[in-house]
Amino acid sequence: MREVPFRRISLAPYEQVLGEDRIARLRAGIGRTGRLLGERTVWNVNSTAAGGGVAELLHTLGPLARAAGLNVRWLVVDGDPEYYAIAKRLVSRLYGIPGDGGPLGPEELRHYRRAIDANAARLTAHVRPGDVVIVHDAQPAGLIEAARDLGASVVWRCHIGSDTPNPHTEDGGAFVGPFVAHADATVFSTPAHVPGWAPRPRIIAPSIDPCGPKNMALTGEQVLAVLGATGIIDGGRRPPVTVPVPIGPDVQVRRPALVLRDGPPPPAGTPMVVQVSRWDRLKDMGGVMRAFVASGVDGHLTLAGADVGGVADDPEAAELYEQCRRAWQDLPPEHRRRCQLVCLPMDDLRENAVVVNALQRHAAVVVQKSLAEGFGLTATEAMWKSRPLLAAAVGGLRDQVQDGRTGLLLTDSADLDGAAEGIRRLSTDEALAGRLGAAAREWVHERYLPDRQLLDWAELIQSVAA
Ligand code: UDP
Repeated sequence: MREVPFRRISLAPYEQVLGEDRIARLRAGIGRTGRLLGERTVWNVNSTAAGGGVAELLHTLGPLARAAGLNVRWLVVDGDPEYYAIAKRLVSRLYGIPGDGGPLGPEELRHYRRAIDANAARLTAHVRPGDVVIVHDAQPAGLIEAARDLGASVVWRCHIGSDTPNPHTEDGGAFVGPFVAHADATVFSTPAHVPGWAPRPRIIAPSIDPCGPKNMALTGEQVLAVLGATGIIDGGRRPPVTVPVPIGPDVQVRRPALVLRDGPPPPAGTPMVVQVSRWDRLKDMGGVMRAFVASGVDGHLTLAGADVGGVADDPEAAELYEQCRRAWQDLPPEHRRRCQLVCLPMDDLRENAVVVNALQRHAAVVVQKSLAEGFGLTATEAMWKSRPLLAAAVGGLRDQVQDGRTGLLLTDSADLDGAAEGIRRLSTDEALAGRLGAAAREWVHERYLPDRQLLDWAELIQSVAA
């Protein structure tokens, strides 16, 4: 187990985006909770410091919560490869799919407990009586009881779930439910994902950071320079490209992306359909590729994900990338030339974030064709950038996108013809794309910026810590 330090930031740039009133409400709400807690700490515990939505949320919310007056810190559990494989299997089951298909029986439970016990021993060096511990997802859920034994109040924050309970979710619930039963409260992104075994459930939707490198404004010129420097599009500018960020130091974009492509990079003017996701079965990158080809639209498809191996708690990424690579290889040459697979280096997370930002801004159409999703941060990130979005109607995406108003929803996430049709509509109907993109930006401004999320959390922390 190790601590991930939060960088110090100021609230001033947020005032530009949120306005004085929202910042005043944020300061007041967080201030009240801060006074109640006094010297006590709010700990977050998860299983990776980089890659995926939970790490993204903690990197953005943590510094902001501290700037607003809350003593928040972050711990990451560790374990051997077998623990990560079992944990990933558990997460897949809670999403309602078999994952690698392996068992979650007494043997796996024993191994999971051993890894958790090693982390629990380290927890004693950090957690004090009266602290609040927020345990994220299933990987570290075994720690809930240990944190309670140290005198902390504990919240289980579940970011995952399945819209339709099935034998896989029951399997996952049977494994993790007894650990979660020790929590004082549980939090989910969407009501559809609250299982019967979760004690005192609440709904808090995530948010995105409008001032960080992933979602800050970029000029058109910066977008082209960043994508050109990384080799994702054809570009004249050589790396490094320096980009100022409202919070923190400038970011230098200097690492080329690992691009699998047949032929030269697409010129800057080529319309691009984009999906940014981890290499994970639930993101259905292969399905996006098939739908793009079937759509018959001009332009280029970019499927971008973190460098495989860059996400510590995701042992399946390499295999899923390989599956996608084979599907790309099997495309007829005229289509293969219009599709690229991009792995983004994770050595510097702020650099990685600027590249994701530029890619989302450059997209003519953004797709999020997930087969299951707790809350799809990538969708909200694209909406904030006024992009026309086609998202599968699964999990939290159904709350995030209003079909025909702030994006298009694909009713059946497995429906390739429907996905192709959605891509075609957004690519060819400029008025529709513009209208959806503008409404999407407004909707995110209203609902999915961090002040709202932090105030929801402040209220919950007060109620469990009282
Ligand atoms: N992401 C990233 N770099 C990458 C690929 C993904 O920073 O190379 C980010 C993405 O922008 C988003 C998060 O990882 O903020 C993924 O969160 P989401 O909720 O969409 O899915 P999850 O990975 O949690 O299932």
